[in-house]
Amino acid sequence: MSSYTPSKIGADGYHGITDIQTRPLPDTVECQNVKSLPAIDVSKLKITLAKELKPLPELGPLTFGNVMSDHMLVLSYDPFTGWSDPEIRPYGGLNIEPASSCFQYSTNLFEGMKAYLGPDGKPRLFRPDMNMARMSRSATRAALPNFDGEALQILIKKLVAVDQRWIPSEPGYSLYVRPTMIGTRVGFGVAASQHAVLVVLLSPSGPYFPKSLATPRRRAWTTLLASATSIRAWPGGTGEYKLALNYTPCFAPQKDAEKQGYSQILWLLPVETPKGKQWKVTECGQMNFWIVLKRDDDGIELVTPILDGTILPGVTRDSLLQLGAQHNKGSPLPGLSPDLQITAREDTFYMSDILRWEQEGRLLEAFGSGTAAILAGVWKVGWEGRDIIFGTTMDDLLKGGEEDVNGLGPIGKALYERIVAIQLGKVEGHPWSVPCE
Ligand SMILES: *Cc1c(COP(=O)(O)O)cnc(C)c1O
Repeated sequence: MSSYTPSKIGADGYHGITDIQTRPLPDTVECQNVKSLPAIDVSKLKITLAKELKPLPELGPLTFGNVMSDHMLVLSYDPFTGWSDPEIRPYGGLNIEPASSCFQYSTNLFEGMKAYLGPDGKPRLFRPDMNMARMSRSATRAALPNFDGEALQILIKKLVAVDQRWIPSEPGYSLYVRPTMIGTRVGFGVAASQHAVLVVLLSPSGPYFPKSLATPRRRAWTTLLASATSIRAWPGGTGEYKLALNYTPCFAPQKDAEKQGYSQILWLLPVETPKGKQWKVTECGQMNFWIVLKRDDDGIELVTPILDGTILPGVTRDSLLQLGAQHNKGSPLPGLSPDLQITAREDTFYMSDILRWEQEGRLLEAFGSGTAAILAGVWKVGWEGRDIIFGTTMDDLLKGGEEDVNGLGPIGKALYERIVAIQLGKVEGHPWSVPCE
């Protein structure tokens, strides 16, 4: 009779025999704060240029994120040797074992930012420190190795400089920067991955809503279906982190919404309140959600849901809150009267509030915000079998004709123009626009 001896399970969940198992694994927490292992060392950057450069794509048919530039940045982390020397090398495949944690347990996170060409012809990033801080929080939440955000930012700037010719200079175009981190621990043990690969990819991107999509009467509006069946994020969950696992469950409901004729979903959260069950408004599609309300005194209120743990803390969201608040404080938004009183605030609101504001004639505009689209105007929200129309300003807009951007109303358009001017480096010395040098 043969006897069976189960193999020992290692400190980070390894089953079976690997050479790594013969060495004690540092404990996860220790690993993340470890001082003795090499941190990202920018001075060790190795650049291998592509022998042949790709032809630049035609800008017209360019859709979001489908064409990759010539080069990528690659780093890896090993719990015994720390961060590898950073490498910029031709875009291409990664050698990753199929038993890696990222394929088994979705230990994946990502970021999204954009590079623009400034008026001086030099590449610029928009508030990259915010993306680095958020990426670091995502890494901690996913129990992946952490990293020095400032060092990574320097490396991203170098990558953008190497592929500078990929930054389109046409208005509405930019170079999308996609950092991704994946867990590469090999084995099926359900545990944190102390091994990771970090890659940064670049992809030229055009206007989120190409002109071809817009018809003369109904331009590039976003339409939302408010969902009472699928929940994107919940208290105590991971909605406030850019973890890949938050996005997969959204694809099937998104397809259903499209079948019903809507372009995106308005994600809600059912909550018990003193007034009974309410549907809290959270985000739309993969964007932060905004409502523009008319106040009794004819001022304007710009409202977005509070960061309650279910909301992704968008860089665009934070920027719009600040730009809105500055309108009456010396930095008026373009095209709006400086006398128009604007308050920008974070608040909790429910579908019942939206219905009440609709009845009171206060609903002026709604839009989504995020790096990809920047601002996307919402035309209608489907809820309980009918459509709530954000159309108080629609007539004005239609009269405006050609000037319409992303289906935005006058407030959304003013914010859009202001933030884009800063992103393009047209507002001289603005601290949010960071040169890549
Ligand atoms: C990335 C993202 C946003 C927008 O964040 P930005 O930093 O403005 O690009 C909003 N919601 C979700 C769910 C996101 O993933």
